[in-house]
Amino acid sequence: MTSENPGIVSAGSILQTQFMKEISQSNRYHGRFAPSPTGHLHVGSACTALVAWCAARQADGLFTLRIEDLDTPRTMPGMKESQMNDLRWLGLDWDAGPDIGGRHEPYLQSLRQKGYQSALDKLYHQKMLFPCRLSRRDLQTLASAPHGDVAVYPRSLRPTGLEPGWYEKAKINASIRLKVPSHRIQFFDQICGLQEEVVAATAGDYVLRRRDGVFSYQLAVVVDDLHMEITEVVRGQDLLSSTARQLLLIDLLGGTRPSYAHSPLVLNAKGEKLSKRDAPLSLAALREAGVSSQYLVGYLAWALGLLPDVRPLTPGELVKYFDWFRMKGIPSFVLPENLAEVLT
Ligand code: GLU
Repeated sequence: MTSENPGIVSAGSILQTQFMKEISQSNRYHGRFAPSPTGHLHVGSACTALVAWCAARQADGLFTLRIEDLDTPRTMPGMKESQMNDLRWLGLDWDAGPDIGGRHEPYLQSLRQKGYQSALDKLYHQKMLFPCRLSRRDLQTLASAPHGDVAVYPRSLRPTGLEPGWYEKAKINASIRLKVPSHRIQFFDQICGLQEEVVAATAGDYVLRRRDGVFSYQLAVVVDDLHMEITEVVRGQDLLSSTARQLLLIDLLGGTRPSYAHSPLVLNAKGEKLSKRDAPLSLAALREAGVSSQYLVGYLAWALGLLPDVRPLTPGELVKYFDWFRMKGIPSFVLPENLAEVLT
């Protein structure tokens, strides 16, 4: 048959090659770093970015930069450019991002609203949503069980019947919550090990779209990670408690679960998570103080347990020492107050 109709066979083999390419493309490791442009990058974000980048490069995978500028009131002008600058200074690069585009563009969450809306519509058609007019304060009073930063929304407050057309009307002055199923979510984290959570008990029926119309971080991250075919999510351990909520959504939307690694948290000398207040620990401040990015990479590699001592090296040189196993059991590490002096 091959010799009888070579034209058809070659078209078939082209299609097959394309298909094979797509399969190998979709099997390829795809990591990402997803900062919110709410301030300058500090050593904590740099550490997460470095870990995520090394994991992707060691796997010969793709690395995407996505800017999570969904929460417009908290977004600061000029920050995404400054963050990209800082990442480049550190020696990191990316295969897709807001500055270079890519197969899954746009890479700014503020431009990806349609995807979030269609995921919400899908969940509405699955009868998994309901409107809520309670404020955070109302909830804390009613439920009197704030859990960390999440006010648990108990099942007893979920409305029993919903009037037709509620979904359209909920665009005004109501948040939209997910009817959280009561089963246990399990996942394995490369650094933190096996995790289990019953989201109905830890968060309850959580918000997917806020009263002001902003889609929640949980929904946006899931929609983007699925759309961008992210195979492994690497981020700080402060977000470990969001993962079960995100897995619930991935399962409901029929997506493929990525694997997870929550990297050690970087703390200031007082033992607190780094924030905007720790301005001297921003990459911009360290750079201005004369710190070389290679010393910073070497310091982070040592603090993460990847190297036995602090020595200057590039992220590319760190790839061969990268090993999830070495980071196991390191929930966090504390930076000295005089980090800039230590590194110059
Ligand atoms: N945008 C989040 C942050 O900057 C990270 C989200 C994620 O990696 O899932 O904290």
